Amino acid sequence: MKLYSRVYETVDLDAIRHNMEAMKANLKDGTRMIGVVKSDGYGHGAVPVAWAIDPYVWGYAVATVEEGVILRKHGIRKPILVLGVVPYEGYGLLVEHGISSAVFQLKRAERLSSLAVREGKKAVIHLVLDTGMSRIGYPVTEEAAKEAATICGLPGIEVEGLFTHFAKADERDKKATDHQLEQYQKFVAMLADRGITIPMLHCSNSAGILDLQRANLHAVRAGISIYGIYPSGEVDRDTVKLRPAMELKSFISYVKKIGPGTSVSYGGTFTADREMTVATVPVGYGDGYPRNLSGKGEVLIRGQRARILGRVCMDQFMVDVTGIHEAEEEDEVVLIGRQGKEEITVEDLAMAGGGFHYEIVCDIGKRVPRIYL
Ligand code: PLP
Repeated sequence: MKLYSRVYETVDLDAIRHNMEAMKANLKDGTRMIGVVKSDGYGHGAVPVAWAIDPYVWGYAVATVEEGVILRKHGIRKPILVLGVVPYEGYGLLVEHGISSAVFQLKRAERLSSLAVREGKKAVIHLVLDTGMSRIGYPVTEEAAKEAATICGLPGIEVEGLFTHFAKADERDKKATDHQLEQYQKFVAMLADRGITIPMLHCSNSAGILDLQRANLHAVRAGISIYGIYPSGEVDRDTVKLRPAMELKSFISYVKKIGPGTSVSYGGTFTADREMTVATVPVGYGDGYPRNLSGKGEVLIRGQRARILGRVCMDQFMVDVTGIHEAEEEDEVVLIGRQGKEEITVEDLAMAGGGFHYEIVCDIGKRVPRIYL
């Protein structure tokens, strides 16, 4: 399909459904999936992705209460969990929209409980455990378990889940992750000693889903893998075959020849030493295309790789098409995705620019239209 836009992102919802099927096939029977659609579905569009994965998931995870409300406003009815700490001002929205949140402090739980009681409702929460990220969550101590038990008894609170987050599940060596899992199970036992059973135990992220069946408890939280991207180069890529959903495309806005000694882009960091043909691509860091690809990244034109010359500007950059004799204005330029036999993945871009593949997809800017295939 040829679509008109200066730059556009296509999202293949069939690829997303394929990824959900592939992951489901690798889960223990009965393990449910929570679809992580924070940061606007990792840059793919939270609402269309949420609808595409709705048949496969128990519920959704987001990072902010606003992200949850957007899903509710678009008709999503399944459980939604905010994975981070919600500021007090967000509590009204949580209760109003029936969105659960991560809690690990009595003072916050009490505040949420009183608000829910006032509204004649229950606020659903998932307790968080810090087993190795030192980010948020209770430490694995008897004191914390005692406080968690107090939270379970609050009149306006329903404790639906208990989760932790793995710091190194995407590494080949799983020792640290196994230790986190042990710590997690230890806390579950501490709660059980107090007569508390939590209905939804969940630890695994994408790396856990791919590599650690033993960590797939009542549920798993699938993030990057939904979108067809592996969390790292160290996870198993054979068992679950993921298909990238996102492509990023533009066109050649201008082609010209430059002579030896001519510099290209800001700062003149590239100077031609011979006659070259240069194409301008109207995409830049203002669209979320990483500036750290300056002089390093590649794009696809007519099924061939063309290297970026000089610095990526806010809205444009230049590539070398000297070897692609037929390249002309209006030709399609693939920044992420396939063209002919060639493919540029987000991992390739991350590697070329020294960036992080998760960040590249999340950063694709708002002014880039998304087209759902
Ligand atoms: N769970 C939590 C608490 C997270 O913070 C994230 C992502 O940052 C995920 C799950 C999903 O991780 P991934 O995208 O690696 O699957």
